[in-house]
Amino acid sequence: MPIVAIDGPAGAGKSTIARRLARALDWAYLDSGALYRAVTLAAMEREVALDDTEALTRLAGELEIELEPGGKLLLGRENVTRRIRTPEVTEAVSRVATVPGVREVMVSHQRRFAARNERVVAEGRDIGTVVFPDADLKIYLDADSGERARRRLQQEDEVADGADEASVRAGIEARDRQDRSRKTAPLRVAEDAWRLDTSEMTLDEVFAAVRNRVTSAIRP
Ligand code: C5P
Repeated sequence: MPIVAIDGPAGAGKSTIARRLARALDWAYLDSGALYRAVTLAAMEREVALDDTEALTRLAGELEIELEPGGKLLLGRENVTRRIRTPEVTEAVSRVATVPGVREVMVSHQRRFAARNERVVAEGRDIGTVVFPDADLKIYLDADSGERARRRLQQEDEVADGADEASVRAGIEARDRQDRSRKTAPLRVAEDAWRLDTSEMTLDEVFAAVRNRVTSAIRP
């Protein structure tokens, strides 16, 4: 069951690279952040307080979350793939992701996903350190926060209307701080990870470098 684990901070290019790699290899793509986002969306809709760790843990256990190998996410029967990416969810998700009980449920989702799909490119914050410590290849993608903010701004609907580089950067740095300082499964570079600083690289260059690394690390 080969697994490539890609970790790193927000906006480092993980999703783009992981999705592209999964497509090129014809492997399943596991977007672990989508799971934490789904719990966050459900908590906001049900008005569960984001500091009520017990209620959040209960909610995480009750939700019917289904992540499809291509990245589509169903909550109950509803396709929430886009709604989990609103600026409101993006701002709140790191708080929900600090809750150990929530993480426990999400980690088992991820392991079940890998058991079902066999060949997986997984991305997140704790994939190589906690979720799949025996992954065949661990990659840590990084970039400075200014560059990550610029990439985010160019991309997408996660960014609030009228947001500028400074506000996006502040949001990214706040998320980084929370992800790095939490007690359970903080964002850090696994000892055996290959770290790539992508600040000065185009996404095509990053993809080529990652692909080479995968080819030499994993023999089909
Ligand atoms: O990758 P994405 O930006 O969708 O992740 C959203 C948030 O989910 C992260 O900022 C982090 O707080 C949390 N997360 C996590 N562990 C993961 C993936 C995401 O804590 N493996």
